[in-house]
This record gives sequence, C-alpha cells and structure tokens, in this order.
Amino acid sequence: PRIIGVASSQFSTATESSWRHGNSLRVPNLIGGTFVDSHSPDHIDVINPATQEVVSQVPLTTREEFNSAVSAAKEAFPSWRNTPITTRQRIMFKLQDLIRKNMDKLASNITTEQGKTLKDAQGDVFRGLEVVEHACGMATLQMGEYVPNVSSGIDTYSVREPLGVCAGICPFNFPAMIPLWMFPVAVTCGNTFVLKPSEKDPGASMILAELAMEAGLPNGVLNIVHGTNDTVNAICDDEDIRAVSFVGSNTAGMHIYSRAAASGKRVQSNMGAKNHGIVLPDANVDATLNALIAAGFGAAGQRCMALSTVVFVGDSKFWEEKLVERAKALKVSAGTDPEADLGPVISKQAKERVCKLVQSGVESGARLLLDGRSIKVPGYEQGNFVGPTILADVTPDMECYKEEIFGPVLICMQADSLDEAIKIVNRNKYGNGAAIFTSSGIAARKFQTEIEAGQVGINVPIPVPLPFFSFTGSKASFAGDLNFYGKAGVQFFTQIKTVTQQWKDLPSGAGVSLAMPTSQ
Ligand code: NAD
Repeated sequence: PRIIGVASSQFSTATESSWRHGNSLRVPNLIGGTFVDSHSPDHIDVINPATQEVVSQVPLTTREEFNSAVSAAKEAFPSWRNTPITTRQRIMFKLQDLIRKNMDKLASNITTEQGKTLKDAQGDVFRGLEVVEHACGMATLQMGEYVPNVSSGIDTYSVREPLGVCAGICPFNFPAMIPLWMFPVAVTCGNTFVLKPSEKDPGASMILAELAMEAGLPNGVLNIVHGTNDTVNAICDDEDIRAVSFVGSNTAGMHIYSRAAASGKRVQSNMGAKNHGIVLPDANVDATLNALIAAGFGAAGQRCMALSTVVFVGDSKFWEEKLVERAKALKVSAGTDPEADLGPVISKQAKERVCKLVQSGVESGARLLLDGRSIKVPGYEQGNFVGPTILADVTPDMECYKEEIFGPVLICMQADSLDEAIKIVNRNKYGNGAAIFTSSGIAARKFQTEIEAGQVGINVPIPVPLPFFSFTGSKASFAGDLNFYGKAGVQFFTQIKTVTQQWKDLPSGAGVSLAMPTSQ
C-alpha cells in the first residue's frame, strides 16, 4: 500500500534537484519510493540555530503512515534480497559519486539546520561517504565460509543472509554521517530500511535518500519516517522490523535497547560520551595544544568524540595558559561565515543546559579560565552561541564532570601520575573515546592496554575509525554487541545460515540408526 499526500506531485521524482519545492515548509516522508506529505496535524519546526529562522517543518508521522512505510519496506525485501550483490554494490558505487557531486548542497543544508561550519559539514558528509565506498565491496565483506568433507561426502557452509526490514534512529549532531553509517551497510547486505532522521535536522537524510534513488535504489528499499518518541516506539514495537540501529543519548538509547529487544529485535545502540585526553609532560606542546583545541571546541563540542576533558599529569599551569590563549583566538560565528571556527549549539535549550552545567562547576569550586557564555555574535544576535569555555580544577564529583555537556566547554583536571590519570578515566561511566598525548611509547602502550574506551587515540584526537574498522564504545557509551560498520556492521545486518549437504552414492540396505549423527 502506498499513500500519496497532497503535495506528493511536488516530490515525485528522485531526479528533481530538491525534495523541497515551492512554498511548502513541510518535510515529506519517503514511502515506497514516493515523497509524500504527512497528514499529521502536528509538526516540529526545524530551526536554523544561528538565526532562529524556521527552515522547515517535520511532521509527527501518523501510525498509518508509519505502517505504510514498513509495509513498503517489507514488500520490497524479497526482490531486493534476490538482486545480485554486484548490482547492489553498483548502486552504492553510483551513490558515492552522487554524494561527491552534491557535497556542497549537503554541507550547506547541514550548516543551515545544524549550525556547524561549512568545512566541518563537508567532513560530516565525507566521513559518511567513506562508509558508502566501503559498502561497494560488500560481496567480499558478506562472504560465507566453507569446510569440505566434514564427514565422508558431507560438506558444511555458511551464508550471511539479510534480516529483512531494518530501522535506523539518528541524532542531530551528524546529519549526514550517521544515516550513512546505517542504511548503506544495511541495504547493500540485502535488507530494506526505515530511517528516522533527527527531528532537528532531517534535510541531509532527505537529500541522501533522493540521491540513493537516483543511484538506482528500488522503491521501498529505503523509506523515511519523521517524528519523535511515538515514531521511535512504533519502530521498537513493530513485528516486521528485525533490527534497530540507534545513535544518540543514553536516555533514548537504553529505552530503545530494552523496548526493541522485548519484541525480539537486535539492537546496536551508540550513546553518550565523556571523552578524556591525558596529557603527559613529555607531549609535543604545539601539536597537543592544537589537538585539544580542535577536539574540544570543533563542532561547538557537539561531537560524540569531542575531547571534553583533559587530565594533565603533573603541573597544568603552563598548559592552561596556552589553552586559554589559543581558545581566545577562535572565531565564533554562523557556520556560513568562512572565517568561523565554531558555530552555534543546536537549540536555546542546549545553550541553557551548557551554561547551567558551567555554572554548577563554578559553584562547586572549579576555576573558570575562559567564559564564553555571554558571547554576542554581530549579525547573529539571536543565535545559540556559546564561546569556548574552559574550567580548571574540576573534580570527579562535580556535576559538570559527571554529565555530558555537549557544548564548547573544556574541562581540565590534574593527576600526579599516568596510573592516577587512567584511574580517573576508567571510573567515568562512559567509555566512548580516550586519547593520550606523549612521546613515550611505553606510556602509550600502557594507556592503550589499560584504558576502558572504544576508540583510543595515541597522539590523535577524535580517532573515529575508518569504515574497514568499526566504531565501537564501551561501558555506558554502547549497548549491544555488534558495532557500527566494518566487519561487525555487516554481521549486525546479516544472519548466518549454516548448510550441511551430502552428495554421495549411499549403499542400499545400510539400515537406520536413531543415534545422534556423529563423524568419528
Ligand atoms: P537524542 O537521544 O535526544 O535523540 C536521538 C534520537 O532519539 C532522535 O531521533 C530522537 O527523536 C529520538 N529520541 C529522543 N528521545 C527519545 C525518547 N525519550 N524516546 C524515544 N526516542 C527518543 O540525542 P541527540 O541530542 O540528537 O544527540 C546527541 C547525543 O548523541 C549525545 O549524547 C551524543 O554523545 C550522542 N552521540 C553518540 C554517538 C556515538 O557514536 N556514540 C554519535 C553521535 C552522537
């Protein structure tokens, strides 16, 4: 079944330059290959965080529309799973080309809806593009295994088969990269997909879906439904959806992990972070300062791999002064300003939350080395800007340390030794990423072995792995066991079928044995 909304003619073909035409602000759903307006009376405004302008309106998709999307995905599955893997790969090959050609359009949409700088938005697209490139080699990645003659005349082999309808639920902070962590791997494995973009910045998902269809993805293989909690719960409860990929906060992630598992789904859930960088006295000064500034304040601190906490081993005064100097030199402005180093945070509420956590740090005894809370950006007075902020003398009991701030705030702590620094990091509930800055191989190796984090950087900030590895996470930063992309990603979106075959001339009159078959 396919529903056609009032504005469907405006969004009818994948080759149109944009899914949004005319004066309509409404973002359509994508159901069975058609962009259709939701009939829902309720919507959420997508707001440009630098200007407060309403960019578009995201519908709270109705239950019927959601069901239509899942039905479309279910209907598309049998023929898509039987489409040769080479054909599926070629569609990804075409898609990577189209993403490259539309890089500026995607980046511009991200800057408008999410706020990050254009250059950073390009990086957002590029890191997702790499997953599409990786999916072009799916035949090799999805290969099964074969052992001949496990018993006389009997061979066993395993094949990795697609699951069926899979779903993805996205956060706001990487509007292109995270949808691209999900659907290219899923569909190239032969699954069909229902994507729920973040309600805060759905535009990049829409452009990507349009490009995927232009690349040749058949109708119904990728569907998009918008909304918030109700749409998410519908995904968790749906009997036809077999797997859920989630990236976002712990509150949503743990809810989705348990609710989707209760109806028998597999779930991969990437969640919050408090990433630490340990700086040893022998670290390269200039490179380390640059790394801390870039990883602490880039994307206004709204990266799950932002280095939000630095633990200085030994005296930190020297480092603190230099950090303040460099942070002060950063330009805070709208992401469209080519000179901007960091843009606004996503919403007024996000800004309030960041400022509140900074204040709580000050009230519990932290030293505020740099305060960006009252920054004004000329020409963008309404924007949700927070300038680079640095808190020192932070201790593990402080709220600003325990909570993920998700803003341009760098927290500085001190430890007397590497052992103590590692203990601080490992005691934190999150385990997304951690980095060390040192010129000692021995210290780096100790850190790598003892640290409890998914992504480990040695003199590398933001060590987001390329797609031939997997993006991981430990402790509260991840739930599930098969991580995103890489080998684990393919395993997540496939199930193993193990076949045992016997082809031999069997002697007649051998009799029947009811004992468990064994090969001895
Ligand atoms: P969020 O959890 O608020 O939203 C993520 C998605 O979940 C959205 O699509 C939203 O509609 C839905 N959602 C939110 N609350 C829900 C609820 N109560 N019930 C059902 N669905 C709900 O996250 P966000 O603010 O968009 O993203 C920021 C968070 O994502 C940060 O915590 C960040 O660390 C994390 N993140 C993690 C990774 C990673 O790989 N570990 C990557 C990016 C972002």
